[in-house]
Amino acid sequence: MLTLYNTLRHAKENFSPIDRNCVKMFTCGPSIYQPPHIGNYRTFLYEDILVRYLCYCGFTVNRAIILTDIEDKAIEEAKKQGISLFELTERNAQRFLKEAQELAIALPNEIARSSTTISSAIEIIEKLLQKGVAYRHGKNIYFDVHAFPEFGKLYRIDISSWPRRKIRFSRDTYNGRRWNRGDFILWHGNDSNAEISFRAPFGSGRPAWNVQDAAAVVQYLGEQIDINCGGIDNIFRHHDYNIAVMESYTGKQFARYYLHGEHLLVNGKTMSKSRGNIIYPEDIYKKGFKPYHLRFFLLSKHYREKLNFSEKNFLRTIEHLDRVRQLVRAIFELTPKAHTPKASGNAATGIRDVFEEAMNDDLNFPRAFEEVSKMLSAIVRMKSNLSMEELERIRDAINAVDEVMNVLR
Ligand code: AMP
Repeated sequence: MLTLYNTLRHAKENFSPIDRNCVKMFTCGPSIYQPPHIGNYRTFLYEDILVRYLCYCGFTVNRAIILTDIEDKAIEEAKKQGISLFELTERNAQRFLKEAQELAIALPNEIARSSTTISSAIEIIEKLLQKGVAYRHGKNIYFDVHAFPEFGKLYRIDISSWPRRKIRFSRDTYNGRRWNRGDFILWHGNDSNAEISFRAPFGSGRPAWNVQDAAAVVQYLGEQIDINCGGIDNIFRHHDYNIAVMESYTGKQFARYYLHGEHLLVNGKTMSKSRGNIIYPEDIYKKGFKPYHLRFFLLSKHYREKLNFSEKNFLRTIEHLDRVRQLVRAIFELTPKAHTPKASGNAATGIRDVFEEAMNDDLNFPRAFEEVSKMLSAIVRMKSNLSMEELERIRDAINAVDEVMNVLR
């Protein structure tokens, strides 16, 4: 049985979706005001492993992902570069789609964007206004945190000491503070810039970042989902805002499971523009490494542990992968002798068993890889005793687990 660590309850829980066969899952995509870095891809990769493993377990996965193409940072960046918002975000979106494909990240056929989910954002805000959970201030619309009694339940904040007097945060992101202790913006009233101004019953403007996930969920998945995931930084504010918006809108529980992946560090430090230590996939490929090397490196620590990128760590990790790939190659090139006795071995089921055991334990990819590698070494050692049938079963098992891992072949 698959268990997942649910941030909502701070515990590992057995996974069971609302619909027994189909899992509904929502994941944040990159904010495409800048190109995604390898830290972002670490998050997208653990999410990819989750999707692939759910499929391996026999579920159908209905997943939505959103590219944030309208928000404060993107607007500022486009202005800085002297290009249109569309030009900026389209360039970064195309780069993301190409790099995701190279890294074998499975994405839904249709990818939501903030700009394509405007009407559902408007519908949500209208209903929140009707319910008295949102209110107008000037041209903007805000969410009243005191109107949602469970506000902050994911991050576990106690809002009883928050000021009753209205403090309004009218930017999409609030740098430098862990919690802004106030009402958050849902709609930026503005009709001066046609590119980012949309007509709504409550005045022209644009949806804030804080309502965009909810808009994509409503448009693509419906009112309730099974899993909402992202990086650890999404727990405070962003995912609590999703809960506040969605649960006030529908009156139902939004997601049953919240998963959060730890961050990637570079030489022990957070990646940032000011440090000048941001690494992009192309920086890795320029040095002659392959996308599967990067994929494996970014998955080489359990998703809830920090991972440190250093040259030494990267090289050691991918050398290990290359050795295991050689074992796989040897197994696929093997031709058993004509009269090999039928082996009674159970290596093929062994591969699946060790893989599933580790993956069922909150997606322990690194352990799954190690256990499968040990099995592969043992198979190569006993190669002269393998029958053709057994070899076929082993190859099928390798292919099956590699549908999830995507690093062995
Ligand atoms: P952003 O483009 O900032 O919205 O980030 C897209 C996703 O990448 C979010 O789920 C973030 O939590 C995640 N993320 C951002 N920085 C890192 C990092 N250094 N390591 C892992 N994930 C990250």
